[in-house]
Formats: sequence, structure tokens, C-alpha cells
Amino acid sequence: MLDTLTVCPVDGCDWRMLESEIQFEADRSFGPTLEDAINAMARGRASALERHIRAHLATHDLTDFVRTIRRLEQDLYNAGPTGIRPHAVEQQPTTP
Ligand SMILES: [Zn+2]
Repeated sequence: MLDTLTVCPVDGCDWRMLESEIQFEADRSFGPTLEDAINAMARGRASALERHIRAHLATHDLTDFVRTIRRLEQDLYNAGPTGIRPHAVEQQPTTP
């Protein structure tokens, strides 16, 4: 079985969470089909995952996110045009 590892995107933070470590409850108000039950389980899992991620991100100050974004901007600048994904280059404004 595959497991999803979620890592914190903030520089200097080593918080990690495996999806298999999360306890969740499926929504019990699903319909009569197997698909309904599977969808309810997926909603319960997604909701629990989001709750854990939000709880962790709330431990950071806004300055942590700003510092990380500035570092990423600097990395992109230092990489130059070849370091930018092709679709991102296409979205850059063009000069006439
Ligand atoms: Zn973090």
C-alpha cells in the first residue's frame, strides 16, 4: 500500500506526517452503493489530513512564510530562464 508523506514547506521546519498515521472517521451518512461508501471514506480522510496540516501551519508566524517565499524567489532568479518550467515561461509577459 502506498502512503503519502506530507512535509512542511517552510524553510527550517522538519515537520513530516505520513497519511497512514492519521486517525479519521468516515462520514456515516453515505448512500447505499459501494461508491458512496468509498467517497465518504475519502472525504473523511481528506478532512482529517487538512485539519492536521492546518494545525501545523498555524504554529508558524507569517514571517516564516514570507522568508520562505523570498528564498524561493531568489532561487528562481538565480536559476535564470532555464530554471523555470516551460509553462511558467509561457506565462511571462512578452515585450512588443
Ligand atoms: Zn512547519
